[in-house]
Amino acid sequence: MQALLIFLRRNLPVLHVASIWQAYGKIRQGTDSVVIYCGAIMLKGKTALVTGSTSGIGRGIAEAFAALGANIVLNGLGNAADIEALRAKIASDYNVIVRYDGADMSRAAEIGAMIKKAGDEFGAVDILVNNAGIQHVAPIEEFPAEKWDAIIAINLTASFHTIRHALPAMKRRKWGRIINLASAHSLVASPFKSAYVAAKHGLAGLTKTVALEAAAFGITVNAICPGYVLTPLVERQIPDTARARGISEAQVVSDVLLAAQPTKQFVTIAQVAALASYLASDSAASITGALLPVDGGWTAH
Ligand code: NAD
Repeated sequence: MQALLIFLRRNLPVLHVASIWQAYGKIRQGTDSVVIYCGAIMLKGKTALVTGSTSGIGRGIAEAFAALGANIVLNGLGNAADIEALRAKIASDYNVIVRYDGADMSRAAEIGAMIKKAGDEFGAVDILVNNAGIQHVAPIEEFPAEKWDAIIAINLTASFHTIRHALPAMKRRKWGRIINLASAHSLVASPFKSAYVAAKHGLAGLTKTVALEAAAFGITVNAICPGYVLTPLVERQIPDTARARGISEAQVVSDVLLAAQPTKQFVTIAQVAALASYLASDSAASITGALLPVDGGWTAH
């Protein structure tokens, strides 16, 4: 530990040492949501907006970015008191500014207003994480049209709106990071998930297109493609998948979800947040337009 501190003190400004020390403390307490690459990642002075960060992967990414010193705009649905408690906890744990915006990701006007408000307060959204997402599992003949519309709106079209509103300020600052929470389902399909797979393949295309448009401005645009992560989104689809396939819920976990992943392990939120942290760093400046699987080997099949 002493050697690590001497290394950090010689190589980083004092503020950075303090933040890394704070993040290290959180890991020791068991927060388990941050990975530090010898101080290479430091987000102090940056503002990160993470859509759908009241739960699951988005929440893990927001906490990881706060631990690295970024100010945070949380977004997502949920109980107002729980969200306020989360906002206050992240702010006090990491000594950063944390705001919450309840914009509905299926409503273009609310998305535009959210990005504008963040820009007015912080100057820009430096790091945009398009994470909000929903799922519905059913054979296509029975797939409710309103579920299709909602999944395309929240999992794909919302990212079009956040990106088009956030990009001008990133371009002015000549620095930006856009990280889209895509999926292994951006690369391969599974039955009964027509809307989700279509939206996630679309998000992959959006990622590559905007990466090309933004590359000359110091802005990177990438997609993280997780396999199965045990979050409320996955827990909720287990009963529907059991019904659609006529098998038990236990069989869904072993024969459907983890069958796809050669590691036979769920991906963890911390693993996804660690990759997001790296992509947000200056070290990742040459990674853009990439679809990065974190899927226990699923898409190697
Ligand atoms: P989750 O259900 O835990 O979280 C989803 C978040 O999106 C919540 O904060 C929710 O409030 C928010 N949200 C939903 N509808 C919204 C709306 N209309 N407006 C604003 N916010 C809204 O799910 P998760 O598993 O953490 O998923 C996060 C992202 O990761 C999604 O895009 C999902 O597709 C993707 N993903 C998840 C997995 C997995 O196995 N869990 C795998 C690959 C990709």
